[in-house]
Amino acid sequence: MLCKNCNTQIEDNARFCHACGADATADNQPVVTPVSVPEQPVRSQITVDDLPEHLSPLSPWSYFGLQILYSIPIVGFIFLIIFSFKKSNINRRNFTRSYWCGLIIIGIILAVILIFTLLLGAGAKLTRGY
Ligand SMILES: [Zn+2]
Repeated sequence: MLCKNCNTQIEDNARFCHACGADATADNQPVVTPVSVPEQPVRSQITVDDLPEHLSPLSPWSYFGLQILYSIPIVGFIFLIIFSFKKSNINRRNFTRSYWCGLIIIGIILAVILIFTLLLGAGAKLTRGY
């Protein structure tokens, strides 16, 4: 190494410079290399395009199209059953299942209305006597 004071070449482990007598140990401690922390792999941003087909989101138009499809009598009902179980896209399957919830609620409301109508009709028939 070189002396910090006079730049004379001195022994690496020398405590004093043999030329000028300066303290060779000062500022000569071996540099402690910091323990290198393994760099975290940069987690790339996951975009919609990275998702596999069965997880990819449906566009608003797809939802709209499915609603139209399901509202078609008979044909819509067949698709409703198929897409409720088809695993090709989880979002379409979930939307299809949610459509069932709507249908069931409408069905219950219609059943209640039907029962009340029949009861009222039967009641009216009794009062009139025919
Ligand atoms: Zn020196």
